[in-house]
Amino acid sequence: MSGRIDAKEVAGRIIDAIEKNKGWLSEIDGAIGDGDHGINMAKGFGMVREKLDSVPSEIAEVFRFMGMTLLSNIGGAMGPIYGTFFMRMAKEAEGKQALEKEDLGRMLGSALEGVKARGKAEPGEKTLVDALVPAKERYDEALEKGKTMKEAIDAMIEGAREGMERTKDLVAKKGRSSRLGERSRGTIDAGAASCYLILNAIGESLKKYVD
Ligand code: ADP
Ligand code: MG
Repeated sequence: MSGRIDAKEVAGRIIDAIEKNKGWLSEIDGAIGDGDHGINMAKGFGMVREKLDSVPSEIAEVFRFMGMTLLSNIGGAMGPIYGTFFMRMAKEAEGKQALEKEDLGRMLGSALEGVKARGKAEPGEKTLVDALVPAKERYDEALEKGKTMKEAIDAMIEGAREGMERTKDLVAKKGRSSRLGERSRGTIDAGAASCYLILNAIGESLKKYVD
């Protein structure tokens, strides 16, 4: 059980993480894509920051607002995908001021299913799905082992980080970098990197509210 969550603080941490890592995200996208991932993400989240004050502070409201803003402001492949990610999370948090262990599990699961469906991406195709899957798995495993929500969040973050790093060994099957075939191996995937940053920011900011 968590205390009442300040969802705007969670959003603020995500925005900070994306803005701080804008250069890095574009650099990795540049290795096997067109080098705009950091710019795209920072543009979308910059719009979120601009209008966040006018949004009601509930988790569902803030996450839905993020999803809708990203959907219409991130160019390229990621607008609809991150739009779906945050709108799915919002739906599972509807009406909640605090989050139980199971709520966060459902939010991650629904976001993952939504992203897979939207991008028609499966695990192993070198996309953000490869960071999300181990994040969700490690979270669930920790809870099954009787760990606290805080420990499960740490496991989730670690899963996302490992998943992101493992994309280095994969061949891209989706998006621009898939055109490179075998040559797309050897660099981590930009979308998996931004997904790790987002999950890390969500997890780190939620931890102070939970046991
Ligand atoms: P673009 O490819 O249009 O330049 P970005 O550079 O912002 O868009 O995003 C690239 C990232 O998008 C990739 O690293 C990959 O993680 C993700 N991606 C691309 N296509 C898909 C897809 N069909 N499903 C899931 N993720 C995808
Ligand atoms: Mg790109």
